[in-house]
Amino acid sequence: MKIWTLIVAAIFCLSLSSCFERVVEPEDVFDAIRRGGTYSPASKMIDSWYAVEVIDSQTFAINEPKSSQYNTSYLIVGNERAVMFDAGSSERPAGSKSMRQVAALYTDNPITLILSHFHYDHIYDASKFEGGVTLIDRPEIRAEVKNGLYTISMLESVDAEATPLKVTGFIADGDVIDLGSRTLDVLNLPGHTTESIALIDKARNQTFTGDFVYKHLGGIIAFAPASDLPSYKANSDRLLQLTNADTQFFGAHGIPRFGHDWVSLMSSELGKIVRGKPDYRYVAHYLAPGLPVRLQQNANMSIYTTPLVDPPLFWSKWTLLLVAGLGALVFYLIYRVGRLLFVAV
Ligand SMILES: [Zn+2]
Repeated sequence: MKIWTLIVAAIFCLSLSSCFERVVEPEDVFDAIRRGGTYSPASKMIDSWYAVEVIDSQTFAINEPKSSQYNTSYLIVGNERAVMFDAGSSERPAGSKSMRQVAALYTDNPITLILSHFHYDHIYDASKFEGGVTLIDRPEIRAEVKNGLYTISMLESVDAEATPLKVTGFIADGDVIDLGSRTLDVLNLPGHTTESIALIDKARNQTFTGDFVYKHLGGIIAFAPASDLPSYKANSDRLLQLTNADTQFFGAHGIPRFGHDWVSLMSSELGKIVRGKPDYRYVAHYLAPGLPVRLQQNANMSIYTTPLVDPPLFWSKWTLLLVAGLGALVFYLIYRVGRLLFVAV
């Protein structure tokens, strides 16, 4: 028997071990939403890739209906400046407009690019913004800025290392961004990832939440590297306190708009997890086959997490290296034992 046969068999067995309950398939998650269709009636295709919803005359949801994760980025315009909140998925076809070019269709004002977080599906056109990127002010991020450039790592993007980005400046939790007759309050909300940002326009009662919370037919992701369940719960409560029953929330995936009640439901389910009283089901997930994913579900709210983030130290590169090393050793031992058995026979 070839060693590759053994390795493939071992990977297959590991994958099966996470399939305790196969309840989530892409079609379950997306339900009636189909790739290529807009998912808000107010969203109109502007070309063959993007659809734009004009939320008001200075606020634009830029959807990518054909992307696998139904991404939405937001252009938030003031009288003097604008903020681009996220830079698009990595799936647009060659020759299509960059997120920077789409933004230029709606404003001539200088644009500050802010990334809701560093996952691969929110950062693709970040380098196309001539003004660079404004980062959340956290010590571990400042420490990695070299010669005015920040490189989003593989662990941060959950994909390949990104193109180095010119850093324009930092915004800290509690800062207020003045766009000219429009302000945005900055929140740093660790939970989904450490660097996660939400922006609040108090005057219009709009809150832009990135991946911290969205209405993706329920799929809240708390299994990424740097996902942190106690922080997720604490910051959900903080977000609830800083908003109200009439706040319109705008997320980065799926159905863009949702309400306070959705955030409240997420918070209460996170509370069950953090208090040690979850009602988990173990599932094979469409995003991470092979990863043991457990699901906390209440009505349409599903929170996906994994033992790998609880305790949170698992997702460190040293732990991953250790696991990879031990895994290689186990495979080698299986190979040796297999050889002994087959040779003996
Ligand atoms: Zn994300």
